[in-house]
Amino acid sequence: MTFDTLGLSADLLRTVAEEGYEHPTPVQAAAIPDVLAGRDMLAAAQTGTGKTAAFVLPILDRLRPHANTSFSPARHPVRALILVPTRELAMQVFESVETYGRTVPLRATVVFGGVPIEPQIQALRAGVEILVATPGRLLDHVGQRTVNLGQTEILVLDEGDRMLDMGFLPDIRRIIELLPAKRQNLLFSATFSEDIRRLSSTILRDPVTVEVAPRNTAAEDVRQIVYPVDRDRKEALLAHLIRKQDLRQVLVFTRTKLAASRLASILDRQGLDAVAIHSDRSQQDRMRALEGFKKGEIRVLVATDVAARGLDIEDLPHVVNFELPWQAQDYIHRIGRTGRAGATGDAISLVCIDETDLLRGVQRLLKVAIPWAVEDGFIPDKNAEPRPLGRGRGTEGATGHHPHRKPVHAGDGRRRR
Ligand code: AMP
Repeated sequence: MTFDTLGLSADLLRTVAEEGYEHPTPVQAAAIPDVLAGRDMLAAAQTGTGKTAAFVLPILDRLRPHANTSFSPARHPVRALILVPTRELAMQVFESVETYGRTVPLRATVVFGGVPIEPQIQALRAGVEILVATPGRLLDHVGQRTVNLGQTEILVLDEGDRMLDMGFLPDIRRIIELLPAKRQNLLFSATFSEDIRRLSSTILRDPVTVEVAPRNTAAEDVRQIVYPVDRDRKEALLAHLIRKQDLRQVLVFTRTKLAASRLASILDRQGLDAVAIHSDRSQQDRMRALEGFKKGEIRVLVATDVAARGLDIEDLPHVVNFELPWQAQDYIHRIGRTGRAGATGDAISLVCIDETDLLRGVQRLLKVAIPWAVEDGFIPDKNAEPRPLGRGRGTEGATGHHPHRKPVHAGDGRRRR
């Protein structure tokens, strides 16, 4: 399956190729043609499935005929309104609009609460065709008459279930009343709950339903397991598990560059052929390490999330979370490197007491409890006190980084043409 058959413009096909996307994800393959055709849609897709591109790309092509370079704000009314539950998601989606739409002369902006409204007003006054917004702040703008939604042609509700959970239903209804009756509606939600079905039946007209197995979380194909362990025993436990289970081609994740280098050298000293790859290593070094890993000469590759993002490695038998990621979503990206295409894989997480909140976040996102195993000789100390996790030097992508950000540290590893 390639992108060319979905009906996108040559311009956007070039952009996705530049982004390093070789194949559409299942939700993209299923959604893009119908969104391009103007259909309403109810799509079940979690974060990490490529859902953002699944609606942003076809919206860009649908709105392209409106692109113009006029200075008059009146020539740039809001045509697509993308409602999202949180400020983080708002920023991510907006960034995707900018990334995917970089060659399309449509204007976009983002508004969310908790920040000064004035700059948002300026941006809205200048005119924008694509508006990403959280419901509350959007209604503030409506109240101040800084935005007019009367020419909206496409409405997207992203993470619909979360918006309902957060109590946005009345706001959403008020916003919808401001939109023209004739419009295209897209509702994306991680789950199809009763509430979502009810919402969809009141908003969507004859929708196409898209439901795809969540990429990466394909839980049945990935055996996930958590080993509780003391923080200073993790290296020893990892070496022990690799030997005992005779693991080969193990991709190990750490949160920081420093931890990656340190761990690789400890394992390597123990005769476990390990190499760290991260942004401080040259592209050439990283390519060499990767080749060695693929050929089986390197048994353990230790990577940070940011460095791994630029690497063409999947279908691995074993992924290890030496440290849980800051962002629960990164857990999904990490374990998505294993268990693809029907093959089984395992995802081992070594979790110390300091990481219990991170683990909770992962389980909440996955909506599963990951089974635990305690290894003899590595039983954690019951009296251990948690310590705050430092986000100090050497941290790669620790704060506010998210899946859409270009891997600025990771060289051009992801641009495979
Ligand atoms: P999302 O589910 O929209 O949050 O996207 C998750 C991540 O997948 C983002 O980092 C995207 O850049 C990336 N992505 C989206 N579509 C593709 C694709 N077709 N191939 C590879 N990566 C993709």
